[in-house]
Amino acid sequence: MQKIEHIGIAVKELALSVPIFEKLLNSTCYKTESVQSEKVNTAFFKKGETKIELLESTDPNGVIAKFIDHKGEGLHHIAFEVTDIKAEMKRLQADGFVLLNEEPKPGADNKLVCFLHPKGTNGVLIELCEEKK
Ligand code: ZN
Repeated sequence: MQKIEHIGIAVKELALSVPIFEKLLNSTCYKTESVQSEKVNTAFFKKGETKIELLESTDPNGVIAKFIDHKGEGLHHIAFEVTDIKAEMKRLQADGFVLLNEEPKPGADNKLVCFLHPKGTNGVLIELCEEKK
């Protein structure tokens, strides 16, 4: 684990939330991207080295839509940068953490990602992400 790469926030509508975060952070959204496999549209902000990722569902049955149905909008996950995602997945699995995907999968922002089940991390959804070379 290198550092917090980004913090993911679930929102109902990017069109409403992007202007709020632009005002809050006093900087403009530098990137939007759809991740069809995850059924989300994302919008990214950067402050120093840390990014904020806003996530909007593109499908009423998508994970973000279901999360908002249960918990409302808000903090969704914390993503840590790793240099070797497969090695880190193996290490965490050996330590008893439950991986939500067995193989790294493509995420937003040119990353390979893996999520850890929040039941093993005090309710916090953790994402590992490795920059694709
Ligand atoms: Zn993320």
